[in-house]
Amino acid sequence: MPGWPGFRVGEHLRARHGVPAAVDNDANLAALGEHTAQFGAEKHSITVKAGTAIGSGIIVDGRVHRGATGAAGDITHTRIDGSGDIPCSCGNTGCLETVASGASLVRQMHERGYSTVHTTEDVLALARDAHPDATTLVRTAGNHLGQALSGVVNFFNPHALFLTGSMSASEPFLAAVRSRVYEACHPLVTQTLRIEAARTGADAILQGAARLAMDGLELRAP
Ligand SMILES: [Zn+2]
Repeated sequence: MPGWPGFRVGEHLRARHGVPAAVDNDANLAALGEHTAQFGAEKHSITVKAGTAIGSGIIVDGRVHRGATGAAGDITHTRIDGSGDIPCSCGNTGCLETVASGASLVRQMHERGYSTVHTTEDVLALARDAHPDATTLVRTAGNHLGQALSGVVNFFNPHALFLTGSMSASEPFLAAVRSRVYEACHPLVTQTLRIEAARTGADAILQGAARLAMDGLELRAP
């Protein structure tokens, strides 16, 4: 977020309002919400939020792993082989965001002459209707995401990989992620790995926010 690095949002809210405040990003909260619904306070998982943009949250032993500077899980700027040299919002080229995000699918549909496509949902609706170009693009996006995730999955060996966000409802997208991860990862890592659409759906972030707040206050759900 340009202009915000180093600004302590939680501390600012606490000082201003005199109450406890818990702050996190949407991907971490979605990961926490889905993981808690699936596993409670143990096990390891990665939740990828794939919609107009792509982000992910990492859960280790039931808790959010934020990394040294809070940037853990920021998978969208992973360089993808064969992605071309499309400029990314980060200033680099060839990032996952430029080939697998919903925004990139809209751009690619425009490049193919489909000027009536404006949103990620427009592309997904065409893919649901078995539109050849839309389906190919959605599948290719899943393949690229699977490529980026396979290194992470091999390294981290999670119990589950959950997908949330609008793209996760697309069967060709999910199938492409699955096949790429299973193909590229070591069998020891994939033998019990679950790769599924998140069952908390659009509520994942809200549920994660509630859990974070309760953990901060050392409350537990009954
Ligand atoms: Zn980038």
